[in-house]
Amino acid sequence: MNVAIAGAGIGGLTAAIALAQRGFAVNVFEQAQVLEEVGAGIQLSPNAMKVLDALGVGDRLVEAASLPEALEMRLGVSGRRIFSIPMGERALDRYGARYAHLHRADLISVLRAAAFDAGARLTLGARVIEALDEGGQVRIGLSNGGVERFDLLVGADGLHSKVREKVIAHDSARFTGCVAWRMVVPAEGLGGLFDPAKATVWVGPGKHAVTYPLRGGKQVNFVGVTEADDHRTESWSEAGDVAQVAKDFEGWAEPVVRTIAAGASCHRWALFDRAPLAHWSRGRVTLLGDACHPMPPFQAQGAAMAIEDAWALADCLDARRGDHVGALGAYETRRKGRTRKVMRSARANRGIFHRRRALGQLATYGPMWLADRMAPFIVHGRQDWLYGHDEAAVKV
Ligand SMILES: Cc1cc2nc3c(=O)[nH]c(=O)nc-3n(C[C@H](O)[C@H](O)[C@H](O)COP(=O)(O)OP(=O)(O)OC[C@H]3O[C@@H](n4cnc5c(N)ncnc54)[C@H](O)[C@@H]3O)c2cc1C
Repeated sequence: MNVAIAGAGIGGLTAAIALAQRGFAVNVFEQAQVLEEVGAGIQLSPNAMKVLDALGVGDRLVEAASLPEALEMRLGVSGRRIFSIPMGERALDRYGARYAHLHRADLISVLRAAAFDAGARLTLGARVIEALDEGGQVRIGLSNGGVERFDLLVGADGLHSKVREKVIAHDSARFTGCVAWRMVVPAEGLGGLFDPAKATVWVGPGKHAVTYPLRGGKQVNFVGVTEADDHRTESWSEAGDVAQVAKDFEGWAEPVVRTIAAGASCHRWALFDRAPLAHWSRGRVTLLGDACHPMPPFQAQGAAMAIEDAWALADCLDARRGDHVGALGAYETRRKGRTRKVMRSARANRGIFHRRRALGQLATYGPMWLADRMAPFIVHGRQDWLYGHDEAAVKV
């Protein structure tokens, strides 16, 4: 079977590896002229790492990663710790894989190399602009003028998916009311403010920040999310102003303030999501990752879900060769419930992180703080359903 994948992001490249390793002929079409990622970090939770381990790339990723010993939540202004969940070796024992922080460029570079090793072909500068299921095959039209036919098309082309628009649904992305500031800063100069073994979410009224070390502690990744009435530009990503970030987080705990001050440049992202799709596939065309179920990043799971989707899709196509309708139906059934649950949980985290009133903060963070001290197993068990899942072990 010849499979075309639109998009060489995290989801598209993972699907390319998973499909090519199972003997499918894979062609990936990427709109960008050069395969590079935004200068930012990414957290890969154990559920994502289990799939990447099963694909044989986990160890290569770990070489480039920082592996946190704990995930913490702290009050943004006072810096007081609310709770801490052990990771490191404990993640291996509890969830069956590591929790890793990577620079996105390093992740893409490892995935790309593995896709090539598996035999996938990649065409850059080729935006998929048309997609039509002709019954026996799918015809795709490319921005470089090319027209090609395949047995199957996978739309892994992100939030503003052309494949989704052309074949699956005519819906629009929705502004979530939040924008994210992103930057990567050198750790040297932060004077040991960061424990390289910790990833921290700092919570406060109407905003939160996430900090974690990258590249063995040489860099620190910063994401600051604030609520905004508008998103000013139609573009969903634009160069941002470090002075504005500093203003937004003025008066916050020293590690947050000093990290922002160490930033030379930043990006501002308007955060969008979409309503869940009734159907993920039509005929010989299907979707995965953000093209299918984009979610706000408040659970750090968008890429993890794309990675799990990629494995599940390859698994279902492999198990039902010659029956693409049955395979795509099985893929959708396998993934829909979990991705919806994760999306709901990501949305709920915004409310938890952004509590405005003192009473609401006390009612939310008080029991967490108490459980962390008196019954830590409650706090540690909260992510079991998410991180403990092993898509690579699901029986087809
Ligand atoms: C601030 C922020 C922090 C985040 N942190 C995390 C985190 O820590 N952990 C986590 O798991 N997730 C995180 N996410 C979510 C994660 O980045 C996305 O869910 C993930 O990148 C989705 O991968 P994808 O491959 O589906 O789509 P994308 O990464 O959007 O890739 C799509 C690719 O398709 C290409 N493309 C687009 N249109 C076309 C076309 N028509 N033809 C050909 N190519 C096309 C694009 O150029 C791109 O290369 C975060 C998101 C944000 C905004």
